[in-house]
Amino acid sequence: MPFQRCISCKEKISYSEKLASIFFGYRPITCKACGTVHEVDERYRFLFSLYTVMIPVILVYLLTAIFGIGSRLAQVSMVLLFASISVFYAGKRINYHKSKVEPIKKRISKR
Ligand SMILES: [Zn+2]
Repeated sequence: MPFQRCISCKEKISYSEKLASIFFGYRPITCKACGTVHEVDERYRFLFSLYTVMIPVILVYLLTAIFGIGSRLAQVSMVLLFASISVFYAGKRINYHKSKVEPIKKRISKR
């Protein structure tokens, strides 16, 4: 199931928040309503690099071989195109789990 809501309070987490998190090196997402920190699952980090690097490179390698495209510029722009499609695709599927580190506010109030 794709990650769309806060694990604790079911507050909606927007798609753009997830994309921003991915672009900033899997920055954890903090729920605006309750402060629960969500981290990207380790296995999705691996899947994500697969989607954004490996698959575009392999696809372009195959396509340029099939259609005989020799231009380096065309190859690079195709990789970039596939990679950006993959970012948006993976952004929909990427999953988060609740961080083991408790929100700062809660930790202070417990002491
Ligand atoms: Zn929440």
